[in-house]
Amino acid sequence: MKLVHHAVTDVGRKRKGNEDSYFVNGEQRLFVVADGMGGHAAGEVASRIAVESINEFVCLTRNDEPISLPEGSGDSDLSSEAGRLRTAVLYSNEMVLETTRQRAEYEGMATTVAALLVDDSNAHLAHVGDSRVYLYRRPHLKQITSDHSWVNEQVETGILTAEQARVHPLRNVVTRALGGRPDLVVDVATLAARPGDLLLLCSDGLTTMVTDEEIKGILDSHAENVPNAAKELVAAANARGGEDNITVVLVQFRE
Ligand code: CA
Repeated sequence: MKLVHHAVTDVGRKRKGNEDSYFVNGEQRLFVVADGMGGHAAGEVASRIAVESINEFVCLTRNDEPISLPEGSGDSDLSSEAGRLRTAVLYSNEMVLETTRQRAEYEGMATTVAALLVDDSNAHLAHVGDSRVYLYRRPHLKQITSDHSWVNEQVETGILTAEQARVHPLRNVVTRALGGRPDLVVDVATLAARPGDLLLLCSDGLTTMVTDEEIKGILDSHAENVPNAAKELVAAANARGGEDNITVVLVQFRE
C-alpha cells in the first residue's frame, strides 16, 4: 500500500522552546515522535538524539545481510520487523544514556518515543512513555498504545477516570523513558493495516489539550486531506491553551 504522511511540530502558546522532535523517513517508511525532558535545552537534545538514532539503526539494518550490531544495542532480536524496531529503540536509549554520561549539563535528560515502521500492510509500533499512537479507522478512533505514566497507572487501577487523568496536575509524570535505565522495556505491537487507515503519532501536548472525541471529530472532517488534518489538530491544541509543545505525525494507508 501507498503511504501519505504529514508531520507538524509546534512550540505551543506557553513554552519558550520546543523539546519535541520528529523524524520521517519516507523511503524506510519510518516515523518517530519523541518528547524530551530536562533543563537547559537538554530535553531538546534527548528527543533529537532519540529520533535520529532510531533512524540510524533502521537504515543500518535495512538489508537482510548479516550485520554486526553497534555496541550496546542491547536486544539483538532482529527476527521480525517489530523486533528490529524494538532494538532500534534500545539502541537509541543507549545513545541518549551515552550523551548524559559524557556531558554533565545533560544529566537527567530523558525522552519518550513513539515509532512506526511499515512493511507492506503491516504497521509495527514501538513506544516508551506517554507519546501516543492512535488508529483512525472510520468511523472509530482508538488509542493503540498504553501510556507509561503515573496517571495511567491510576486509571488502570480504577483510581482516576481517563478524563481526570487528562487534566491531572501530575499528568506529565512518565514512568518509563529513554535515558533512564539501560534495561529499558519497550512495548511493541504489529497491526495489519487496511486501505484508508490513518495512524496518528503525537506528543502529550496534543492529548492533554484535546480530547479523543475532539481528535476524532477533526479526523472525521479532514481525513481525506492529511496535511490539513495535521494542521487542524495542532490548531485545536493551541486553541485550548497550547500549554505544551505539540507534535503530530499522520500516516495514511492508501491502495
Ligand atoms: Ca510534552
